[in-house]
Amino acid sequence: MSAIVISGLSKTYLGNTRALDRVSLSVGQGEMVALIGASGSGKSTLIRHIAGLVCADKNASSCKICVDGAVVQEGGRISRNISATRTEIGVIFQQFNLVPRLSVLNNVLAGLLGKLPVLRGMLGLFHKHENQLAMQALQRVGIAHAARQRASTLSGGQQQRAAIARTLVQGAKVILADEPIASLDPASAKRVMGILSRINVEDGITVLVSLHQVEYARRYCKRTIAMRAGQVVFDGPSSELTTQF
Ligand code: ADP
Ligand code: ADP
Repeated sequence: MSAIVISGLSKTYLGNTRALDRVSLSVGQGEMVALIGASGSGKSTLIRHIAGLVCADKNASSCKICVDGAVVQEGGRISRNISATRTEIGVIFQQFNLVPRLSVLNNVLAGLLGKLPVLRGMLGLFHKHENQLAMQALQRVGIAHAARQRASTLSGGQQQRAAIARTLVQGAKVILADEPIASLDPASAKRVMGILSRINVEDGITVLVSLHQVEYARRYCKRTIAMRAGQVVFDGPSSELTTQF
């Protein structure tokens, strides 16, 4: 089955910027796919549509996006069942999106909030096994020792690894990573890509990762989708990527 299916997706922002132009693509379960393209080519807009954070053009009635068989949006409307689908989708951003004043552990536990009764979530009342789950996730990304530190005390690479741990605790089946290594030094970038690659292989989590550099796509992803001006201009084996997009 496909993890992500997009058909006829167009997005025009206010002010007439055509950010996406009839994009159709699918990503199979367990794939790790790179999304490549110059700044402004539409990568981030595409990822936010798949996550159900942005709505496609209303007049594009044929547009449909499904994740793991569930409709995220159709005909320019977000699905009514989006909250159930959202728990399946882990989103990782360039700027990590942790709560700086909270501990690393609590940031990772936040991955559970979509699944808990609202009050328990609000009060931060986590069971012992939930704490253990979060600690295991932190161990997998190599920052268990920093669990009690405030998130703001971590390096950028460590913060991004905490964000990955949060998606693991969430139980995401699909990870959408929007330029996750763009703010990192090369060593941290390799480490973050290595972790994404490992959870893709070991847990079978589907990964769609937007990247600036073709080198990382070639090294970590078998398949690359390249975008230019809101359109898919290449979709195939990363080894066949020749152009600098
Ligand atoms: P990328 O992630 O490849 O850099 P984006 O998806 O961020 O590309 O942007 C695609 C196009 O849409 C660009 O022209 C950008 O300026 C425009 N754009 C992105 N977000 C918005 C927004 N919220 N409002 C208006 N225009 C936007
Ligand atoms: P780890 O070994 O915990 O997986 P790293 O390889 O990122 O993490 O970092 C190696 C060591 O350097 C760790 O002990 C970590 O706490 C420390 N460290 C890394 N970045 C910073 C930073 N920005 N400020 C303080 N200590 C850091």
